[in-house]
Amino acid sequence: MSTLELQDKVAIVTGAASGIGAAIVRLFVKAGARVVAVDTDTNLTSLAHSLADGQHDRVAAVVGDVSQEETARAYTKAAIDHFGRVDVMINNAGIACVKPIADHTPEEWDRVMNVNVKSIYWSARYVIPVMKPQGSGLFLNTGSISSVCGMPGQGAYGPSKGAVVQLTRQMAIDYASFGIRVNAVCPGTVDTPLLQKAAVDSGDAAGFLRGLEQGHPIGRIAAPEEIAEFFVFLSSNRARFFTGAVLMIDGGFSAS
Ligand code: NAD
Repeated sequence: MSTLELQDKVAIVTGAASGIGAAIVRLFVKAGARVVAVDTDTNLTSLAHSLADGQHDRVAAVVGDVSQEETARAYTKAAIDHFGRVDVMINNAGIACVKPIADHTPEEWDRVMNVNVKSIYWSARYVIPVMKPQGSGLFLNTGSISSVCGMPGQGAYGPSKGAVVQLTRQMAIDYASFGIRVNAVCPGTVDTPLLQKAAVDSGDAAGFLRGLEQGHPIGRIAAPEEIAEFFVFLSSNRARFFTGAVLMIDGGFSAS
């Protein structure tokens, strides 16, 4: 990978304070991009501080909840005010709540759907009007193996990630003629705080993690950087023929 593969591209990354999102921000900045990093977690400030000298002016932080309209308004405005355009919108923030569907409270169902799915609608409402006059743009939406496989305890999470796939296809069709492309990246299990929380919530953390490792034919789970590298490739000019694609990066999980 050329270190300047994303030179001067402007990306908005949600869920940027932890796990896959934090790795995306680090690799994007290293590849020459300028990034608006979005999260509810004020750790965004420490993410900005962890960047190397000379990289700080390449990241703008927006603290907000992606299920809320005002957050989409704020991150889009930040991208324009700081960097003048939006080339890549990465809808990565997501939450899991491990239980079978009938055990979810209505509040849990709504929360998972609003954070994982409605957030993409809000991003479209604010970012598409910026990309249309540019004549170009890319959305990357983080799905999951749960987008395409049924798995125990994914009551609201699985349907929410299934919706991410169909939103991706729908947007790809509606906006292709404007030069706007839309893809879904569906990781297998990745070693992040979200995974560790899901393991604890399952009531049998060790068994939960062992089962997931064994479910990946490749024999292990992924590191966040392995997923982030794929986001770099997809955001580069080398991946310009991808749109409407549902891209499994899952160590063979969905093949078995
Ligand atoms: P993580 O918990 O490490 O990071 C998610 C980040 O999103 C956190 O910093 C959190 O504060 C932020 N966030 C949560 N709700 C938010 C909201 N309403 N508004 C703004 N920010 C919010 O999780 P991760 O594992 O890095 O997950 C990132 C994405 O990858 C999620 O969409 C997740 O569903 C997906 N995913 C994860 C795995 C895995 O095994 N870890 C597998 C497949 C897909």
